[in-house]
Amino acid sequence: TKPVPSDLEIAQSAELIPIRDLAATYGLEEDDLILYGKYKAKVHLDVLERLQNRPDGKYIVVTAITPTPLGEGKTTTSIGLVQGLGQLGHKAAVCIRQPSMGPTFSIKGGAAGGGYSQVVPMEDFNLHLTGDLHAVSAAHNLCAAALDARMMHERNYPGDRWAKRTRSEKHPNGLPRLNINPYTITWNRVVDVNDRALRNIVVGLGDKWDGYPREAGYDISVASEVMAILALVNGNNYREALRDMRTRIGRIVVGYSFEGKPVTTEDLGVAGAMTVLMKDAIHPNILQTLEGQLAFVHAGPFANIAHGNSSIVADKVALKLADYVVTEAGFGSDIGMEKFFDIKCRASGLTPNAVVLVATIRALKMHGGGPKVVPGYELPREYVEENLELVEKGAANLVRHIEIAKLYGVPVVVAINRFPTDTDAEVALVQKIATDAGALAAVPTTHWADGGEGARALAEAVVQACEQPSNFRFLYDLDLPIKEKIRIIATQVYGAADVEFSSEAEQQIKAYEQSGFGNLPICIAKTHLSLSHDPTLKGAPRGFIFPIREVRASVGAGFIYPLAGEMKTMPGLPATPAFMNVDIDEDGNVVGLF
Ligand code: ADP
Ligand code: MG
Repeated sequence: TKPVPSDLEIAQSAELIPIRDLAATYGLEEDDLILYGKYKAKVHLDVLERLQNRPDGKYIVVTAITPTPLGEGKTTTSIGLVQGLGQLGHKAAVCIRQPSMGPTFSIKGGAAGGGYSQVVPMEDFNLHLTGDLHAVSAAHNLCAAALDARMMHERNYPGDRWAKRTRSEKHPNGLPRLNINPYTITWNRVVDVNDRALRNIVVGLGDKWDGYPREAGYDISVASEVMAILALVNGNNYREALRDMRTRIGRIVVGYSFEGKPVTTEDLGVAGAMTVLMKDAIHPNILQTLEGQLAFVHAGPFANIAHGNSSIVADKVALKLADYVVTEAGFGSDIGMEKFFDIKCRASGLTPNAVVLVATIRALKMHGGGPKVVPGYELPREYVEENLELVEKGAANLVRHIEIAKLYGVPVVVAINRFPTDTDAEVALVQKIATDAGALAAVPTTHWADGGEGARALAEAVVQACEQPSNFRFLYDLDLPIKEKIRIIATQVYGAADVEFSSEAEQQIKAYEQSGFGNLPICIAKTHLSLSHDPTLKGAPRGFIFPIREVRASVGAGFIYPLAGEMKTMPGLPATPAFMNVDIDEDGNVVGLF
């Protein structure tokens, strides 16, 4: 086998098609595009109206088994599959999330796929792209500033003598008093850098006119509810999508009043301005695959406290332009795919035709009891030598993920993302176990090393799966009580015996149902490293009690998110972060991004 150059080397030596020419081959006209230089553009959402009579293409979601910390290649496979569909002569497009720059400079490196299955230009993909992330941060932080300013002007801080005198009075400028209780504020500030020193901060230090001191914090920008909103906005043209965005932004609950009433961005009078900051970010971005297909890159919500899927509007535009649209969902099928179906498809009204479940031999070996793998370190020998016993044991995890996908009535194709060290016997074993478990097909694929040519067989299997009837159904009805919805996901998807709610969670659920948020879908925040809540439980754990510690709501985005464990919403940097390799050469090329 030939050696594969680094991702950046492959990406930088690629011959790119001017984006307007590529767009034209998909039927996009000059007026549909908002160009950002020669190789990236936004597609104006009014294209949905212009093409409203075109039938949608087939809709394929890519998910994975429970991953190792290395990632099992969902993005790479999504891109490779689209290139493979191209090799078969089909018009295809891929839809993926825009990555946060935090992980790019920390441990993960780039997220534009890898090897000969990448989205280019990869520097733009991984860095600022068209500035959507900055728009999200600006809109989010405007709201944070509005909140602290409002409390100061209302002088409603507990313990403030002046506040006591004026508490019953009106807001100094005649606005209604919101009486925000500073201990209930759930709206942090955000920045797109892994900066653990900002996790817990004190704002408002100084004198009376510097605001009230209170404990606050920073999250990474992609954890912002504004990002989740960008991903869930729906509409059949720009006006409708903007209206939906305005409504969702206005519904965001930032905290509660002393009387226990939810305080929204609308109450703060900041929802309109936040939407203004997002008015261009709402249009999906297009780049290209290494083999010249459209790649939509739009929105990047967290996959635990949010739903971890790229935007609805990008998928909708792509479906009008391509015969096959491949969209990636974050983490394993228990997380990203469950939320893709129960949150994203519910909001979009779109019906998926097939699930592609990515599995790697190395991850199956880990589930079978192989030693821990750590990013940046050499893999233990179990992972680079044949070991059928570990593969067979670990395949229990794959079987569970096939069962989960089948709960939704959509045909499943397993993509065995092949590494050079995987042996034929190992691959054949996985194929047998997967098809026995009900996968329509299980196909080894070498798109990382060979590009679309290596994904031909996978593409053929996916085309066949899309011809099957899709009996798509949601897992739960929205009008069930919140606890019941959580129980259905935990028992049917995760394999739990039951759910245990902390007394805090019970109270929060009651409060949300009383506030009228009871019929929102559920977005459970749990570890992605196990089907359960415990990252050390590998394989296919059963019979555990799933604990809900706390329940929060993203009322604007439109989901309730119960927390099963500690969720970090601001990552930190490791001792030797990825940015140490990154530099710019004399010709202005980025080096060291991978
Ligand atoms: P995910 O989207 O599931 O997190 P990625 O597609 O980003 O995973 O892949 C994770 C990393 O593994 C990337 O650096 C990618 O280049 C690499 N990778 C994926 N598939 C292969 C493969 N078959 N051989 C070698 N490296 C691979
Ligand atoms: Mg990915």
